[in-house]
Amino acid sequence: MIDFNLSENDEKILAGVREEALLCRKYARHYDENEHEFPPDELPEASSWKPSVKRGEPSPEDSSMPVMSMLGIMGRHWGDYSVRLRQDRGGLGNAALSASGTPEQKTRWGGEVLAMAITEPGCGSDPSRVQTSAVLDEETDEWILNGEKIFVTTGCRSTGVVVWATVDKTAGRAGIKSFLIMKGTPGFEVVHKEKKLGIRADDTATLVLRDCRIPRDQLLGGDETVKQKGSGGFRGVMKTFNMTRPAVAAMGLGIAEAALDFTREQLEEAGFEIDYAAATASLPAPVAKFIELEALFEASKLTVLRAAWLAGEARPNNMESSVTKAHAGTAVRRITQGCIDILGPMGISREHLLEKWLRDCRITDIYEGTGQIQRLIIARGLLDYTRAELK
Ligand SMILES: Cc1cc2nc3c(=O)[nH]c(=O)nc-3n(C[C@H](O)[C@H](O)[C@H](O)COP(=O)(O)OP(=O)(O)OC[C@H]3O[C@@H](n4cnc5c(N)ncnc54)[C@H](O)[C@@H]3O)c2cc1C
Repeated sequence: MIDFNLSENDEKILAGVREEALLCRKYARHYDENEHEFPPDELPEASSWKPSVKRGEPSPEDSSMPVMSMLGIMGRHWGDYSVRLRQDRGGLGNAALSASGTPEQKTRWGGEVLAMAITEPGCGSDPSRVQTSAVLDEETDEWILNGEKIFVTTGCRSTGVVVWATVDKTAGRAGIKSFLIMKGTPGFEVVHKEKKLGIRADDTATLVLRDCRIPRDQLLGGDETVKQKGSGGFRGVMKTFNMTRPAVAAMGLGIAEAALDFTREQLEEAGFEIDYAAATASLPAPVAKFIELEALFEASKLTVLRAAWLAGEARPNNMESSVTKAHAGTAVRRITQGCIDILGPMGISREHLLEKWLRDCRITDIYEGTGQIQRLIIARGLLDYTRAELK
């Protein structure tokens, strides 16, 4: 039976996450205003801060772990989107490695921080249009990669990148494979850092590959065959998104919750009572609006918990993952914008973080598939259409 009740220990762990998040929030404005001055691996508070509870090791038998992990992500982003007391080890490329790497690759690269590079100047929403090429040199047993990747999160700070490239341009998605490329490999260069609207403490880079040679065994998953049916490697790596899309939704919702908490405090300070039992018509307008935004938040959060719960039960969650992103992508924008509507000038003042949260949460609806793309996936799932029938 579906059950999102948390144990006492889980509650303590999440309280610890919030405590840590509050310390990180102190640095949020600094790294927002000083883009490209990245947070250090450890903030000064890290040495003196003692977590209230030692975090338990995830157990594969414990189906509540994905749910806890989503709540943890929300708690951390409630502090700040990118600033952490200790830097997380790992990026989207690490998720791809876990989902599709061979045991040897997981051992060898598991400790690295891996970005994931799919998007190119001519390819975003439809990853099957990847043009970066990978050609096998049988004499040297090396892949030679050429192409350009844009908007790569952690492209500067990662130690390696999982790069999507085609080994056969005539084969469409079946020809697409992913390759592990470490920083420092000749022919692989970070050429540009983006300046962004929000999430400025997160680096976003352009990468160029010019006759970049890597050993043959750096093909993720090791399968070199180009299968027309099933599109092996491509489908494998796409599965990565079934957990990362709920995670992206959870990040945005953490920010939205921070905005709601701030707004509640301000309303209460101004003498408004948030009375959930009162009839809507009797509520002052700011309170009625606030309660509506909170309900939107709760609905979105439930979509994330359900997708995570399905993953914990080892049940398919492809469509539900897209529901989390589609719903949260819109909800977090409405919530942060709505909080600004309620608070007026205070909402846009840089004295507070609310205006930053509005900017930071905008990305929820863009990366790892825009809202429109998630809606296409949901429609295909509900109506049983193939990709070719509904695109
Ligand atoms: C800050 C940031 C970080 C990012 N990090 C990464 C990363 O780490 N790795 C990576 O590979 N990429 C990353 N991206 C890229 C991101 O995934 C793409 O921007 C996104 O997938 C959209 O692709 P696009 O920008 O090429 O837009 P396009 O595909 O050109 O789409 C433009 C618009 O058309 C809509 N659209 C497209 N196709 C359809 C359709 N069939 N039906 C209806 N509407 C459609 C889209 O929803 C969008 O609104 C990042 C982007 C940003 C901004």
